[in-house]
Amino acid sequence: MTHDANILFNKLKPLLHDISSKALTILLVLLVAASLFLLGPLNAKPARAGGLSGWKFCIDAGHGGSESGAVGPGGTQEKDINLKVAFILKGLLEAEGATVLMTRQSDVAVSITDRWTMANNWGADRFICIHHNAMDGEPGVNGTETLVAIYASQASMELANSVQAALVGQLGLPNRGVKKVDYCGVLNHTNMPAILTEASFLSNPQEEQRLRDDGYLYREASAIMQGIHMPSSINFILPQENMISYQAVDVDLQVVGSETVSRVDLLMNDSLMATKSSEPYDFSVDTAGLGDGSYSLRAVATYQGGRQASISRDMIIANQTKRWYFAEGTTRSGFQEWLTVLNPNTQPVDFSVTYAFEGSDAAKRGYHIEAESRLSIEVANEVGEGRDVSILVDSPLPIMVERPMYFLYKGQWDGGHVSSGSNQPVTDWYFAEGTTRQGFEEWLCMLNPGDTTAKVKIEYLSAGGLIGQEEIAVEPWRRSTIFVNEKVGPDRDVSLRVTSDRPIVAERPMYFNFEGRAKGGSVSTGANHPAADWYFAEGYTGSGFREFICLFNPATTPTKARLNFQIQGAAQQTHEVEIPALSRYTFDVNTEIGKNLQLSASINSDSPIVAERPIYYNYHNWCTGGDVGIGVTRPSRHWYFAEGYTGEGFEDWLCLQNPGDQPVDVEIRFHMESDEVLWERHTLAPHSRTTFSVNSMNPYQEGMGFSIHGSGDIIVERPIYFRYKGAWVGGTVSPGYAPGSER
Ligand SMILES: [Zn+2]
Repeated sequence: MTHDANILFNKLKPLLHDISSKALTILLVLLVAASLFLLGPLNAKPARAGGLSGWKFCIDAGHGGSESGAVGPGGTQEKDINLKVAFILKGLLEAEGATVLMTRQSDVAVSITDRWTMANNWGADRFICIHHNAMDGEPGVNGTETLVAIYASQASMELANSVQAALVGQLGLPNRGVKKVDYCGVLNHTNMPAILTEASFLSNPQEEQRLRDDGYLYREASAIMQGIHMPSSINFILPQENMISYQAVDVDLQVVGSETVSRVDLLMNDSLMATKSSEPYDFSVDTAGLGDGSYSLRAVATYQGGRQASISRDMIIANQTKRWYFAEGTTRSGFQEWLTVLNPNTQPVDFSVTYAFEGSDAAKRGYHIEAESRLSIEVANEVGEGRDVSILVDSPLPIMVERPMYFLYKGQWDGGHVSSGSNQPVTDWYFAEGTTRQGFEEWLCMLNPGDTTAKVKIEYLSAGGLIGQEEIAVEPWRRSTIFVNEKVGPDRDVSLRVTSDRPIVAERPMYFNFEGRAKGGSVSTGANHPAADWYFAEGYTGSGFREFICLFNPATTPTKARLNFQIQGAAQQTHEVEIPALSRYTFDVNTEIGKNLQLSASINSDSPIVAERPIYYNYHNWCTGGDVGIGVTRPSRHWYFAEGYTGEGFEDWLCLQNPGDQPVDVEIRFHMESDEVLWERHTLAPHSRTTFSVNSMNPYQEGMGFSIHGSGDIIVERPIYFRYKGAWVGGTVSPGYAPGSER
């Protein structure tokens, strides 16, 4: 992350309102290149990426003058929005050498006949008509559609298809498809390929708000530009891009020139799922047997003569996220506990939360969360104060949940931590980090969510091997808490292995006063299995920061691990260490790698290990504390975070690591508590780490969740620094959730 004081205290102008920086990022990202490509030229005169010189585009901004077109509930007039988008598109086309004719350049009325006559007489190569939609009495309706004439040429259809796909990809609104219509004069009489875009509904109040933002209009125009570059013969209508799928997944395709299509194949991760030889090209994929993860769907249309067109889209499966468990939690005096929930679906979700206590019956409550939105629950409001509580979240659809807690521990150590929860009780849990040194208090919380008592063995391991073990019974729907300091005595660095005869969930809270200068707390959900690979996107050794990586070898033989650091603005470094059997090893990043570095780490070991990353800091005297990050065992193209807050006293960051050797295009989506969704797109260089300031990217000061979608595999972490209610100071870090990752 960027720990520079200037950036911390002088927030950058929100990018959403900064067209020039937006232009730069979006032009860098000819995104769909990764997911949408044309194998055979279908156009007599295809647009060439990066060079439109010699091309003539007629841009037709709908309505004007006395004809306002649609009017939004807040009074925004369609004619003005259309003209703004038309001007932005004109600029983008001219920047690539095209010549542009506008049917109107100001707020004047132009007849339909004049519009198509202008285009025909001038000899335009393409005609792009810009409109925005409306539906009377249906403020909730929104979506993207593109119109062509009923007898549209193949070139018109390909242009419409690609512009439609790019608009849906860019704006993220429901895909209403490409429609052939007979009522549209400009489309009926133009004699070149012609399309009419209805990118969104001005009659939708939230959409009207977005359409008042020039940055948003820029997105729309750049999507049209993207579509102009890549005429496509085949497109996905469903599944929607970057949306989670479940049960039977509809795959609906739009195929141009279907009268000459001999077949359409649907492949998943390159194996053939189904073939169709006639319209409609709609498929259904049964996901019942699929584990969680990202699957690449590819549709290939084969035309008579052998020519092919293909397109890919990810299908995201995350059924494990219908359940979340949190073993730790309390509403005692000095603690404030929250649950934050992200609904990444395109529909609202009703879910339940069961609150389990140490000596009494559980309480169950129901909640409602809007589509693509974020919800906060303050636990004390639900269960009252003074209670130790474990939590089970149950949802009919995938959702993501995190549990932020803020505290003044024992009236003296202030801070906060965020648990990313567990999706599944298991019989084995591993915790690499842990210490009972001066100024540290370590706990282990376990919840038995089953209906029979669990016999649990806890082993305490240090640099020299096993230093203690014990067995305890955890009753059904009860939580048990162990004070580790009491078990192993003072001044021990300790890893934990927990094995149970019944599935349980576990968490390890720690509270500390690090070297007498950084007070705080951390919590870890641990790992449910050792692994050969571990990744940490976040890492920092700047002034006031101390970073360590703890490696725990639970095997009875020694192993070697290689730690590879990707350093922002510097060459990579690799170190090899040997970890004795049944031991933990602490790697001091400041000492071994160097100071003042922003770095990500990838760890690979000969036999499976567990890795965690403690960081303690004094962050510009603004914030002191520390946190422990649990690594992730594999990269993913999709990441989700339920927690995020940019209100007073909070600094949120996103660290993105690209561990591969190809650039990765990413889309960062902000799911606001107020139900809005904002986007940014960026490109991550190979073997790099990039830090984003959420406060700078997002103009709102409220709660939010994030979803991050890459064209390739990435790792993401979310550090937050805070002064909670101006009093409790600290930091948290979360690795988020990636479909298919186990915890
Ligand atoms: Zn219109």
